[in-house]
Amino acid sequence: MKKKAVIYSSVTQADQHSLTKWYRKNKRPLPWRKKKKNPYHIWVSEVMLQQTTVNAVIPYYEKFIKKFSTLKSLAKTPLPEVLPYWSGLGYYSRVKNLHKSAKIIHEKKYFPKTYKELMKLPGFGPYTARAVSSLAFEETVGVLDANVIRVLCRYLGFKKAWWKTKEKNFLQKEVDKWTTNTSSSLINQALMELGSLICTVKKPLCLACPLNKNCKAFKKNQISLIPLKKKKKEKEIWFWKPIVLFQKNKIALINNHSLPVLKNYPLLPGKAVKRKNPPTRYDFIHSITHHNIYILTSKKKSLSLKNLSEQNFLWSYTKDLHKQNPSSLLQKVLSYSQNL
Ligand code: SF4
Repeated sequence: MKKKAVIYSSVTQADQHSLTKWYRKNKRPLPWRKKKKNPYHIWVSEVMLQQTTVNAVIPYYEKFIKKFSTLKSLAKTPLPEVLPYWSGLGYYSRVKNLHKSAKIIHEKKYFPKTYKELMKLPGFGPYTARAVSSLAFEETVGVLDANVIRVLCRYLGFKKAWWKTKEKNFLQKEVDKWTTNTSSSLINQALMELGSLICTVKKPLCLACPLNKNCKAFKKNQISLIPLKKKKKEKEIWFWKPIVLFQKNKIALINNHSLPVLKNYPLLPGKAVKRKNPPTRYDFIHSITHHNIYILTSKKKSLSLKNLSEQNFLWSYTKDLHKQNPSSLLQKVLSYSQNL
């Protein structure tokens, strides 16, 4: 027998209204939520928010914007001077792309206003492009982040694998519907805020939720089942033996083509290998994205010029390492190596 197709009822105007009303009353006064919209500030905040929580982002955002208050100031600053202001946030390719795109926008003297235009710039994926075009320019497109996916799946009673392309496209169309006949920036932020504050992963506050009248998961008592849980990607195991070489107070770095993270950033020389099992001997583990890197450090060595003939080293003072590579990894290796 053929399975009956489930019909999902889309958002009602009454729910759009209740949600925006709730948002106006309950939104947090975040530093990027200013009356006068600044597309550059919104963009920086959205890139940072992809990697961590609102509370963790605030101090990084404030420090970054204090230093680079305008797009021009970011575009005009060389990347090594920008990197220290991203240090600790992780996902360092994002700051490189942010800087690249800032330069392009500044050169063209035009900030793209639609998500399709924005997606042509380095670092703009479907999420960031829609977030900037709707929050800064009111383009009528929905923003689908993890919070919104959770709210929508529950509201619609959507029990499918939301991470798959077809299902994601369905959810994108649904969230797009929320942005019609209202302020797109307001409703997108309201959905994200509702997911952060009320429709949380565990113990959502349904009785305080402005959408509870029509929420399928609430009505059918299926909140713990929706959204479906995506299986976590297993962490890759890597073993890295960095070599700490000094010459005249400068440390040797080499462009990273060995570790699977921090690609093209200068790193300490030394081979990295992928392994099935963790090594028995190591000094510490550095976890980054879905990689666990087991690190065995060596004592620092001084090098004479004749040892260096074949090597393409970059030489950096230790105090400038964060300008070469914003990750804390280098500093960690150095402190272990100095204690040997
Ligand atoms: S009623 Fe509960 S489950 Fe439904 S959207 Fe609101 S908080 Fe989420």
